[in-house]
Amino acid sequence: MKTYKIAAIPADGIGPEVIDAGAQVLAALEKREETLSFDLTTFHWGSDYYKKTGVMMPEDGLDQLKPFDAIYFGAVGAPDVPDHITLWGLRLPICQGFDQYANVRPTRIIPGVASPLRGVEAGDLDWVIVRENSEGEYSGHGGRAHRGLPEEVGTEVSIFTRVGVTRIMRYAFDLARSRPRKLLTVVTKSNAQRFGMVMWDEIAAEVAQDYPDVTWDKMLVDAMTVRMVKTPQSLDTIVATNLHADILSDLAGALAGSLGVAPTANIDPERRFPSMFEPIHGSAFDITGKGIANPVASFWTASQMLDHLGEGAASARLMRAVEKVCADGIVTPDVGGTATTQQVTDAVCEAIRSEN
Ligand code: ATP
Ligand code: MG
Repeated sequence: MKTYKIAAIPADGIGPEVIDAGAQVLAALEKREETLSFDLTTFHWGSDYYKKTGVMMPEDGLDQLKPFDAIYFGAVGAPDVPDHITLWGLRLPICQGFDQYANVRPTRIIPGVASPLRGVEAGDLDWVIVRENSEGEYSGHGGRAHRGLPEEVGTEVSIFTRVGVTRIMRYAFDLARSRPRKLLTVVTKSNAQRFGMVMWDEIAAEVAQDYPDVTWDKMLVDAMTVRMVKTPQSLDTIVATNLHADILSDLAGALAGSLGVAPTANIDPERRFPSMFEPIHGSAFDITGKGIANPVASFWTASQMLDHLGEGAASARLMRAVEKVCADGIVTPDVGGTATTQQVTDAVCEAIRSEN
């Protein structure tokens, strides 16, 4: 019996609702598999904690998280706390402190969740977007000069390093290799941005030498948006910079049907630190407390967590259960259903129990 220590950080808005749903599903898996168990510890950090203490998490927060096998994160952000505090106070310190440089975002059409693309069905769109999560356009470098004057200048400096680009490229090629189609698309804007982006292209070509079994191509980010809409079947694994992948994965989430189903993993591929798994959606205060938050993104990211922990069979079982329940039409209002969070959760737990 293998026991995994999971740090749960439900945080704000619907975060606690979808993490609670995920905990129920993990408990059902534990019963079904009999070879693994989860030891969940909940950390009540986030915006309410901030209102009491002035910080989003304690100063030794990372030290408290370090001994865990993984972090299961809800959502962060509150209407009455400024964005820069919620953003820089909890998620980013964890991503940066634990060097989670690969942000992995699987997208596929789940049966029962309709894509806005006409004629595109489950199986036609099955992607994983790998987002560089540690440098690039969000490096935080730049500044403002002559503030408020007519000659004011603002700069926003993108920083790309050989180490940073090589490691994300290797991660992407490895991931592409692990998937049936062994297909990778490297996205840049190297026609207009002639330094860092050209370096991306060069490093991609260098790393590709070590992966003769992976078919790869390059796309400019603008053309990539067209390809995602027009020929989604032609794509599989995608790697892009922090900014480009941020935008492309929102498009991907929309094409797959709903924000409420899209998951993401912040991975330290070297496994020096715990990796963090979370829904892509935010705290969604408009539906908080109504019992209708879609828990599928939370289940899907739990499945990513299981994969990362080496529990591929349990991960696949969880996704089969989720897909069955969605195909049966037991879905929340955001994807056109009438089920509550708890009804979807109960159905997924039952599907896990009763699967042959
Ligand atoms: P952020 O500030 O991080 O963007 P947010 O509160 O604006 O967070 P989003 O994730 O951007 O929330 O979601 C936008 C809207 O989509 C929400 O207000 C909500 O109506 C809907 N939504 C998001 N996630 C879910 C979900 N899991 N289930 C149902 N509806 C959701
Ligand atoms: Mg939003």
